[in-house]
Parts: sequence; structure tokens; C-alpha cells
Amino acid sequence: MTLEQIQDFKGKYPKQIWSLFFSEMWERFCFYGMRGMLVIFMISQLDFHDREANLQYGATQAFVYAFTFIGGLFADKILGFRKSLFWGGLLMIVGSMILAADPHQFFFLGISFTVIGTGFFKPNISTMVGYLYKPNDTRRDAGFSLFYAGINLGALLGGYLCVAIGKGELLESVIPAALRWNVAFGLAAVVMLISLINFAITKKNLGPIGLQPGDPRALEDKKPLPRWAEYAVYALTLVFIPIIQIMVSETQYTDYFMYSIGPLTLLYLFYEMTKVTSAERKKLFAALIFILFSILFWGIYEQSGGSLSIFAAKNLDNNLLGLTLDPNGVNNSGGAFFIIFLAPLIGLLWIWLSKRKLEPNTVIKFGLGFIFLGLGYYVLFATRFFATSGITSLNIFTLALLVITFGELALSPIGLSIMTKLSTKNLQGMMMGMWFLASAYGQYVAGIIGANMATAHEDASRVQTLITYTDGYKQLGLYAIIAGVVLIVISPLVRKLMQEVR
Ligand code: GLN
Repeated sequence: MTLEQIQDFKGKYPKQIWSLFFSEMWERFCFYGMRGMLVIFMISQLDFHDREANLQYGATQAFVYAFTFIGGLFADKILGFRKSLFWGGLLMIVGSMILAADPHQFFFLGISFTVIGTGFFKPNISTMVGYLYKPNDTRRDAGFSLFYAGINLGALLGGYLCVAIGKGELLESVIPAALRWNVAFGLAAVVMLISLINFAITKKNLGPIGLQPGDPRALEDKKPLPRWAEYAVYALTLVFIPIIQIMVSETQYTDYFMYSIGPLTLLYLFYEMTKVTSAERKKLFAALIFILFSILFWGIYEQSGGSLSIFAAKNLDNNLLGLTLDPNGVNNSGGAFFIIFLAPLIGLLWIWLSKRKLEPNTVIKFGLGFIFLGLGYYVLFATRFFATSGITSLNIFTLALLVITFGELALSPIGLSIMTKLSTKNLQGMMMGMWFLASAYGQYVAGIIGANMATAHEDASRVQTLITYTDGYKQLGLYAIIAGVVLIVISPLVRKLMQEVR
């Protein structure tokens, strides 16, 4: 199949999107499965204190998304998206297998494999979605919304199943108690294998998309690279594993790492900007504006893993529309649950609006993303008005999650989409990597915000925690709304940089 034939599809979605949808779904199953197990495993099996475990968790999250930049860069220059995806997937399988074999002994080794593996997998599969569309195809955002539903389907299943098996809440009569965690990590390996098999079988439909630079059939016209360059990437990755292992287990390194990787990538981007035309440079600059704003978005959004989980545990009842549910379970999976249903619908809404020439442009979508995020945090603030002796309503909390999810859907899939539109051909992977690197900073910022809200009040009563946390959420809501308004105000300027891209 040629690129033309792929991009000339009829209907709402290109059929190749399903191959990427499922590979990414299984990868996210593995990733969120692992992420869900991290803290609980460290505390219950490795005897870490809460604080230590949370710091380790934060460090791992930051590293995972930081390596997407490197994964994207190597994909552009040497491996191509397909080989990067395979290499990343393979590392994730090895990581999960190490953890399945002996999670107690090799915990950080296994995690390091997964960290680097995700860096090679995650940005590059997203970039390939972009190639399914012609540059001016208005169905692209809808495609990314659908893809985002796949992400969250995997996140929901993995996030729930792995930890439930590990803790012995699921299949406890079948799995011997001593092997529960091995099986849970093993499940992550199995689903990652399914992801790669799915990709291997369906990649023939992708035509030239994702082939290695220098391949005569590849989209970019480049000289073939020497074989050793590819092997050097593989070797370098392996050399990095023990280094990551040390950096993840000693969290002060995370700080140094975060202080340096961002500025370095910016310098590198500026260097690459000198090599492109002025029109392309403006587009890259617009992409950078979206990337920088997204740091703030994720910083606020990612309270879900930190302060919101403490809030859920301390201050929420367990009644959701008459059902008895664990508030932490709702906090962990409510967002993903809403997305699975809403993402395809919102995708169709974009297509419907665009047919009527009413579709908001990307800057406005981003602005709306922030405004919904802010409104969601105001709803979190409002939970305090429904409290009796410090315990408040899970219903109102869930409503907040719903509002926040609308914000996420206006920003996160659209961010992926706009990266593929604004990046030049040979910087696609790197820019997608930068988009996720912003998430790494978001995670990092989220940890700092959450810690500041929490530390002052460790022994506080429920009523006091409710007041402190909801005060914090009101602040965050205000920041989000300000950011949204700023984006909408500067939108003419950003759109100038974007030129014909919407
Ligand atoms: N939840 C989404 C995913 O896992 C977005 C993550 C992010 O960009 N921070 O892909």
C-alpha cells in the first residue's frame, strides 16, 4: 500500500488505526499495570515507608516520560518508528519478565527496563497515527481521540487487574499466595507480548509509515545508515539500564536529572530549528508553546495519583449513585472509565462541527481543556459544602472527575495530533517525545504541589484535611482557568505561528 492509498480513506477513521489502537492498548495495560503495582509492592513487599515509596514512584514516572524524548530522537535519526516500537516493546517484556521471575530481588532492574522500553515505544506509536492522515485532513483529531480511548481501555484494565491479582483480591483460590506478585508482573509481560504480536501481524498495512530512515521505501529521502548505527543504539540502551537503576533508586538524582534534561532538550530543539525554513521554525515554536502549557496542565491534573488519592482515602464516603464503591478505586479508574465512552463521541463531535465549519481550532481546544480542568477543580473545592464531620460525597467527587475528563479530552489527544501537524518530517519523533517530556515535568510539578499540600498537615483531623485540600484545589482551579483564558487571548498570535495548520 502506498501512503496516498492509506491517507485517501473513506469514512471516519483509517482502518490502520485499529492496529495501532490495539498495540497501544496492550502497551498501556502493561505500563499502567506496573505503575499501579509500584507503590503497593514497595510498601507491602519491600518494606518501604510511605514517603519513600511515593518519592520512588514519582521518580519512576518522571524518568518514564523523560526517555520518550530520547526514544523519539533515535527513531527519527536511526531506527524509524517501527523498529523503535519493537525495541521498546522488547525491553518492556524483558523488564516485566525479570519482575515476574523475582520481583523482590530484581525490582529496580525490572523497572529500569520498563522505563527505557516505554521511552522507545510510547511516542513513536503516537507519531504513526499522525501519518495516517493528510496534512489538512480534518478527521485527524477524531482519530487521536479514538486512539486515546484505546490508551485508557488498556490503562483501566491493567491498572485494575494487575494490582488486584498481586494483592490477592482476584483469582486468589487459583494462584498460590507466594506467587501472586510474580503472576501479576507476568501478566504485564504477556500483554506486552500480545501488543508486539499484534503489531507484527498488522504492520504490513502501514505501507511506508515508520520504516527506518535510509530504507529505499521510506518516506524520507535519506542515505542508508551503516548497520552499526542501529546496533550502537541497542548497545547504548543496555548500557543505560544500570544507570537508570541507580538513578531511580536514589531519588535525589531525579532532581539533577530533571534540572538538566529540559534545558538540554530545549537547546537541542533550538539547534534543530536553525536547520529548517522560517515557516517550519514558526510551527515548531507554536508546538513548543503547546508543550510548555501542557506542563501546567499535567501538574494540576496529576494530583490524581498524589494528593487526590490521600483525599479520597481520608475524606470521601463510599456511595456512588447508590452503589458501594471504594473511593480510591473510583479516583484511580474513574477518569479512564469516562474517557473510554466520551473520547469516541467527542471525536465524532469534532468531525460533525468541522463539517459545519464550527470546529474550534487547536488553541481554543487547549484553552477549553484548561477551563474544564479548572472547573473540575472548583467542583473538587465544592465537595466541602457536602461534608459531615469531614467526610464528603463521592458523587460530587465523581462529577469533578467527569468535568476534568472533558478537559483532558480537549487537550491530551489534541496535543498528540497537533505535534504531528506542526513537526517537520524528520523531527516528528523528537517533538512527540518532547510532548511527553512535558508530562514528565508535569508529574514532577504535581509531586511538589501535592507534597506542599500534604506535609503541613500530616496529623490533621479530617475536617482540617478537607479544608486544606479543598483550599488547594480552589487555587489550582483558578490557575487552570487563568491559563485557559491566557491561551484564548493569545490564540491569534499562536495561530499566526501555526500558519495554515488549525
Ligand atoms: N494518560 C495518557 C497516556 O497514558 C496521557 C499521559 C500523559 O501525556 N501524561 O497516554
